[in-house]
Formats: sequence, C-alpha cells, structure tokens
Amino acid sequence: MSGVKFVEEFRDGAIARGLARRIAEVARGLPEVRLMEVCGTHTMAIYRNGIRQLLPENIVLISGPGCPVCVTPNDYIDRAIAFARRPDVTVCTFGDMVRVPGSSSSLELEKSRRADVRVVYSPLDAVEVAVQNPGRKVVFLGVGFETTAPTVAAAIELAAAKGVDNFFVSSAHKVMPPALAALTADARLGLKGFILPAHVSAIIGVVPYQFLAAKHGMAGVIAGFEPLDILQGILMLVEQVAEGRAAIEVQYTRVVREEGNPRALALLERVFQPCDAEWRGLGMIAGSGLAIRAEYAAHQAEANIIVEPEQTVVHPSCRCGEVLRGLLHPRECPLFGTVCTPETPVGACMVSTEGTCAACYKYGAPAEEGSVGG
Ligand code: SF4
Repeated sequence: MSGVKFVEEFRDGAIARGLARRIAEVARGLPEVRLMEVCGTHTMAIYRNGIRQLLPENIVLISGPGCPVCVTPNDYIDRAIAFARRPDVTVCTFGDMVRVPGSSSSLELEKSRRADVRVVYSPLDAVEVAVQNPGRKVVFLGVGFETTAPTVAAAIELAAAKGVDNFFVSSAHKVMPPALAALTADARLGLKGFILPAHVSAIIGVVPYQFLAAKHGMAGVIAGFEPLDILQGILMLVEQVAEGRAAIEVQYTRVVREEGNPRALALLERVFQPCDAEWRGLGMIAGSGLAIRAEYAAHQAEANIIVEPEQTVVHPSCRCGEVLRGLLHPRECPLFGTVCTPETPVGACMVSTEGTCAACYKYGAPAEEGSVGG
C-alpha cells in the first residue's frame, strides 16, 4: 500500500460522513455530552477538518491544556530570558518557544538584542552546540510532555557520558495523567470523557489512564490524528456514554500498545523523577512534572547557572488560563483577533502551532462550540 493511499484512507469524506451519522444516531436522546481533547495536535486537527461542525448539537468538544508551550508558565519564560541575557549563555529551544511573551520581553526580542538564542530541531543538536562552543554554557529549554521528554533524557545521558559539562537542561517537562485528574475534578466542565493524546500514549501506554474510568467514571479513548481517527474515537466515547460504561479504549491501535514504549519509559525513569509542577491556567499540580535526578545534577540549568529573573507579571487582559482549562472559548477573549493575532501574540495560546487560540484563528468557524461559555 502506498503512503499516499494509506493517508487518503484516513481522510475519506464519505466514511467521515458515515461516522458522523453513526455518532448522531448513538447520541440521539442523550443529554449534552462534553468531551475534552487534551492534545494540541488533536485541537489543530479538529479545527482544520471542521470536525465540530460534523457533530450533533449535544456532542460538545472542549479543547484542553495539551499544548506544551501554552501550559508553560510565564515565570519559566522569564527565567529563560534571564539565561539568554547572560553574556556567557547560549539558549537552545524548539521554534515556538522563542515567540512566547514573558513579562516584558521574549526570547525573540532578546535575540534581536544580540542574545545567543538558537532554534534547534532536537535536544541532541543542543548537545552538539555545547561541544562546538566549549567556552559557553548551553541551556536547552526542556518543554514538552512524555512524548518529548525521552529525547531530552537521551541528550542528558549523552552529555554525561561524553563529559560535555557545558550542556544544561532547564526542565519544565510535564506528564499528562495528573492534569487529567485535575480537569476531571472541575465540576464546571461537566466532562463525560477524554479524547486521549496519541503520541503521549505511544510512550506511556494505557494503564496510567485507568484511574479515570475506575475511580472517576470517565470515558477515555486514545485516538490518532487523522480526521477518521478522531471521528471514530468520538463514536467510541459516545457509545460508552450511551451504554453507561466508562473504560479506557484504544482507537489508535496501529501505534499505541497497552504497555507503551518500555525503552522510552526506562530512559525517563533513569534521568527524571516526578515533581510538582506549575501549569499555566491549571496552577500547581502534584506529581505532574519531571525533575532531573541528582545523578545528573551537573546538567541541571537552575542549579548551575544563577540568574535573577524579573518579577513575573501576566498581561491583565490575557485569558489563556481559562482557555487552557476549557472554561473560555478563544473568541470570548476580548483580545482575540484584534490585539492578539498569530503575528502579534499576547498569550502563549496564540503563539504555538498547537495552541487553541492559534487553531481557532486559523481554521475556526465563527459559531463552533468549545467551552463552557462557548
Ligand atoms: S486570544 Fe490571545 S490573549 Fe486571548 S486567550 Fe488567546 S492567546 Fe490569550
């Protein structure tokens, strides 16, 4: 089967309409069913493919905190800016991070003021920058969920093994299950289920989500990113709700294994340990972060490079926190599309290619649903 045909099969319009009809049949007579997608790539795919408009009125999709750049709080950005302002430091990061506004600046702005800020495609590239620049301290901004963290762990292990002692990581990595628990506990959202993230689940497998169904009676389906994957995942969720069941099911069986990826999990375990972490919008969530273990303390940026970040302030009108909790639709933010656009982002949700505000701006239909108020 050619790659193109393979992709086409997951985008077939007739099959999509058939799935939408089936969802409407199963949902008939149900009260409003609120489902949250907690992965930024799902959010983007749902907007881009107009999936909300295919669903019956009583099936409401809410976008959650699944964009790693968006949930990284302002004080982390301010610290990254403080690192970049040091003349002996090179900051390496993935693309979106450079444009996220901190309290009074951004990495992009600092770069224009001659700070050494570099966009890399892999943390291993940042190790190479450190090797090539032995006189400088190279700080990689470790931002991302279980999908990204193993590659950062591999970079730390590599730097330690090779004695690259000028490579550091500032870890703001986060893990998904504790955030899902926090969202489940928010009665305002009235969630019935989650479209669970695909890439994260390829690493952690199915077991870490079981508590959602067993303890909280929440339906969950791990779905792929193609439109038909998402529609089938929604159908599986609505079937659970209609049947009064709650289980964690896998739609994305071509990638996700029950046990996840044991090699990646072992790598994470060797380099990181759980810690409490601050999420933009959700606040401090116990056990939701990944801190670098003491064995690798020599590569921990904060412990080895002392900076004094500016006092953190958040733009008074930015409503990213509520958008990330699913409490506000992007269009309900007074800055959306006027003051705040992808060219002039005020908040992180408009910067990232996985951000809900960016997705809504680029692909959103005027009347799509998507939040408690939406
Ligand atoms: S429109 Fe801009 S300011 Fe408003 S919530 Fe979205 S990113 Fe934040």
